[in-house]
Amino acid sequence: MTERSHSIVVSTLADRIAQTQARVAEAAARAGRNPSEITTIAVSKTVDRATVDEAYALGLRDFGENRVQDSVGKYETPLPADARLHLIGQLQSNKVGPALRIFSTIHSVDRPSLIAELERKLAISEQSVDVLLQVNVAGEEQKAGAEPADALSLANLIVASPHLTLRGLMTMAPLELEAEATRPVFRGLRELRDGLAETLQIELPWLSMGMTNDFEIAIEEGATHVRIGRAIFAP
Ligand SMILES: *Cc1c(COP(=O)(O)O)cnc(C)c1O
Repeated sequence: MTERSHSIVVSTLADRIAQTQARVAEAAARAGRNPSEITTIAVSKTVDRATVDEAYALGLRDFGENRVQDSVGKYETPLPADARLHLIGQLQSNKVGPALRIFSTIHSVDRPSLIAELERKLAISEQSVDVLLQVNVAGEEQKAGAEPADALSLANLIVASPHLTLRGLMTMAPLELEAEATRPVFRGLRELRDGLAETLQIELPWLSMGMTNDFEIAIEEGATHVRIGRAIFAP
């Protein structure tokens, strides 16, 4: 293309959703997996509610937010009943009440005090919630998530909490890594999951791993839930 004839490419939300879904499907195919095993969570933390509603109208049903405080007002009018809101960011114990009012899945369970507080609040309201144990597989100093060595005792605490349903594990790869370099982190989470499921004799079907930079690698390593923000919402 010459300088004169260059055109401005404006991608719409519909284009970006379609492209993302195509990339998820291609990665699944490469790994010999059925794309229907993979849930794309549209991470809508940077966009307003109108954009979330637009994405819903375009067919997305799973949305991820990382701050309880910002989400309370944003979802004051709940999403339609067939949509699911996932909390993917850290949860402070004093925000458990509001979090449980809007989120159906909590990906960031990582410590005994949080498990206790979730169970306490849920027992009062006689509700249950799906949770994932977040593990800091990469061993990053500042990062959220439990140490892999603590995963078994934490999983036991969750399993012993009648109002929490442990679905699986979640991790984040270091943001500065090239996509391919994230593979050992995702593989590590899958192996940890396999070991816990074996030891505890329970099903742990969900692996929440992979973001815009690395979701294709995560799918190749067994992700069932990819958390994608920029590829969908950043024009
Ligand atoms: C923001 C965020 C994402 C999405 O990141 P992108 O790079 O925008 O795809 C995924 N997971 C968590 C925990 C996040 O905070």
